[in-house]
Amino acid sequence: MEKVQTVIIGGGAAGLFLATTLKSVDQKTVVLERSERVGRKLSATGNGQGNITNLGVLREDYFSFSENGAARARAAIAQYDDTSLVSHLESLGLLLITDERGRVYPAGRQASSITDALRFSAAARGVDLRTDAKVTDLTDTEQGFVVFTENGRILAENVVLCTGGTVARSFGTDGSAYALAQKFGHTLTPLYPSLVQLKTDPKEVKSLKGIRVPDASVAATWSEFLGGRMHKRTVRLKGDIMFADYGVSGDSVFRLSAYLTHRIRDGVSLSVDFLPSFTEEKIYTALVEKRKNFPFMPVGELLGGFVNNQVGRAVMKRAKDDLRVAAKTVKAFTLQITGHLGLDSAQVTKGGVKIDEVDENLQSKLVKGLYFAGEILDIDGPCGGYNLQWAYSSARTVAAAIDEKIAKRRGQV
Ligand SMILES: Cc1cc2nc3c(=O)[nH]c(=O)nc-3n(C[C@H](O)[C@H](O)[C@H](O)COP(=O)(O)OP(=O)(O)OC[C@H]3O[C@@H](n4cnc5c(N)ncnc54)[C@H](O)[C@@H]3O)c2cc1C
Repeated sequence: MEKVQTVIIGGGAAGLFLATTLKSVDQKTVVLERSERVGRKLSATGNGQGNITNLGVLREDYFSFSENGAARARAAIAQYDDTSLVSHLESLGLLLITDERGRVYPAGRQASSITDALRFSAAARGVDLRTDAKVTDLTDTEQGFVVFTENGRILAENVVLCTGGTVARSFGTDGSAYALAQKFGHTLTPLYPSLVQLKTDPKEVKSLKGIRVPDASVAATWSEFLGGRMHKRTVRLKGDIMFADYGVSGDSVFRLSAYLTHRIRDGVSLSVDFLPSFTEEKIYTALVEKRKNFPFMPVGELLGGFVNNQVGRAVMKRAKDDLRVAAKTVKAFTLQITGHLGLDSAQVTKGGVKIDEVDENLQSKLVKGLYFAGEILDIDGPCGGYNLQWAYSSARTVAAAIDEKIAKRRGQV
């Protein structure tokens, strides 16, 4: 049987990055990717433009079902943050640019250039990248791990599971690889889609279908049990909101969904401020003035010129033609969230292999030599480059641990 030092299962963001940062590749490292190409999802990130990280990465909250999961994510990211990532990618020959929201992209705005940089670098370092190599089973023997693919078996001292989560299944991440961890006794948290469109009562949005409102201010509110009592929590952010027959989407909704999808059953409401630059009083005064100046204008049209006409009519319908209520409603158009569009529409998995079952090196506490990196673990971040940064930082943590283990054995430490 073929014998190698390290097998990386999954040639996505975390797997490829690991292959470019692991120092001990001279001991033979193999990446096994089930698809016909490595990095297919990576090449589609950021609408094809590749939003690889965010300059705010150390300030943002990561989410985990485990109490200390977010702190573990922060620790790994603090060890290898956006600055380290940017200089590593620059050393691989990329030029990077940052937009006004701190999102970092390759200057050519092509996500595939990141995939190319990683795969060429891995190959140049002697890492063996094998495609069409789905791992079907993994066992632990006295000689090491036996990794089974559809084409054969490999004996490895270290195995790193970089198989992603269970969303966007067309990219090879259908969740079947969780079984490789579960067979060693690892357990999964509940799994939810994140960065996904949200459903509302279709009747509430029917008349708004197809409308996109740029620069709205959208707030999500839910109740949370904290410190022995219920607290109301609100997250508000600015961005586009789009209305569809099922509910809402757009940049603001995608970003908010990261806080919400696991809470929908407990009750989540959205409140859209269509005119964040104006106070309610200013809008009310303007409406009163308009009605005075145009007494024959249908009341449903009075908000025309302030907001999109269809939005104006929907607001006036709710306000039952009361101008005071209309001014309030245009600043707080509420929608109850009833669901999400599901795993195939989402970008990230919320939940995964329990973080308490891995040590600070992301090595399994249940079987030595088995490591995890990326979305397979119960950690997810908000929209804007945070999830790729987690994939890279966690891969870097694993690379450092394997290198140290090998160096120790060689007596170099
Ligand atoms: C459309 C889209 C856009 C996104 N945009 C962004 C963005 O702009 N910024 C951002 O930060 N995040 C973005 N994300 C999220 C980000 O891509 C993921 O969080 C990240 O790729 C996770 O990296 P990973 O290596 O853990 O998993 P993945 O990149 O999903 O890679 C896992 C790999 O494992 C392979 N695999 C699975 N099972 C097996 C098996 N049994 N044997 C062999 N191989 C297997 C899969 O084929 C896949 O290639 C986006 C996601 C999507 C779907």
